[in-house]
Amino acid sequence: MTTYHDAKHDWVAMSRRVLTGDEIRRDEALAILQSDENELLNVLQAAFLVRLRHFGRKVSLHVIRNAKSGGCSEDCAYCSQSSASTGDVPCYPLQSEEELLQGAKEAQAMGAIRYCIVSSGRSPVREDLDRIIRAVRRIKREFPLSICVSLGILSDEQAAELKAAGVDRYNHNLESSERFFPSICTTHSYAERKATAARVKAAGMELCSGGLMGMGETLEDRVDLALAMRGVKADSIPLNFLDPRPGTGLMNRPRISSGDVLRTLAMFRFVHPAREIRIAGGREACLGPLQVLALYPANSMFTSGYLTTPGQGYQADRRMLDMAGFEVVEITDA
Ligand code: SF4
Repeated sequence: MTTYHDAKHDWVAMSRRVLTGDEIRRDEALAILQSDENELLNVLQAAFLVRLRHFGRKVSLHVIRNAKSGGCSEDCAYCSQSSASTGDVPCYPLQSEEELLQGAKEAQAMGAIRYCIVSSGRSPVREDLDRIIRAVRRIKREFPLSICVSLGILSDEQAAELKAAGVDRYNHNLESSERFFPSICTTHSYAERKATAARVKAAGMELCSGGLMGMGETLEDRVDLALAMRGVKADSIPLNFLDPRPGTGLMNRPRISSGDVLRTLAMFRFVHPAREIRIAGGREACLGPLQVLALYPANSMFTSGYLTTPGQGYQADRRMLDMAGFEVVEITDA
């Protein structure tokens, strides 16, 4: 029988090394993903020690707003907002300034520290960018929220305009490894994604960049994504787990197991000890009653749903956090 002491890897020793400033190697990151199901709690405990040092038991809550939905020219195989998808999703143009402000008010009422405005599409068109900039200026005047915006591929000028308007953080996921990316998207390249990530940093905004697991990538691809996050210097890493959407190219993929979700989160915590790691889309679908375990490696989560799918709801999220003894980060702590 495998016990903690005769296990092949001493995960706690690995966490001690990480806490003294060592970077874990690629083969070690892969070993976390390949570890035995019976070692799962040991892996989570070791990742928790790293999380505890940097974030205590704090969890930051984020609320996402689907400000413009559907009709996207891009062909991302996982996305129901792509024009390549036959799925039935809401399709509407960019919401008004008033609607975006109302979303900020709702986010604040839910104890969120960050309000994320997301628009479908390859890149923002001028009229949309102007409206988002006006809305961001008003939100920054009226609410103490941090603002994250996700509008697709940016130019240097667009990144500078968003920074000047008061945008704190820009989301642009790399989604997967460079090797696997062409299997899920052909209308833009991994290099274009990395270039936008670099422009965000150069403009002085924080970069939120992560990915989506369960698209058919290998465990090595997941490690490569985690290592690529070091390269782009992501400040915040949202990790999504595919909840296959009807009508998309990945609609028939099976969901990944709860163990794989948790090992992936732990691996990212070891590779990025002090970065914000967010359990994002697929939390409820892939983890079900185990979802609170995600917060042992992760220190951040969305509440109240995702772009095109509902979550378990704010009240259930707060109850889950309270029962497990996690503390929600207040705006004044952030
Ligand atoms: S660019 Fe964004 S909105 Fe468009 S298909 Fe890809 S993920 Fe969906």
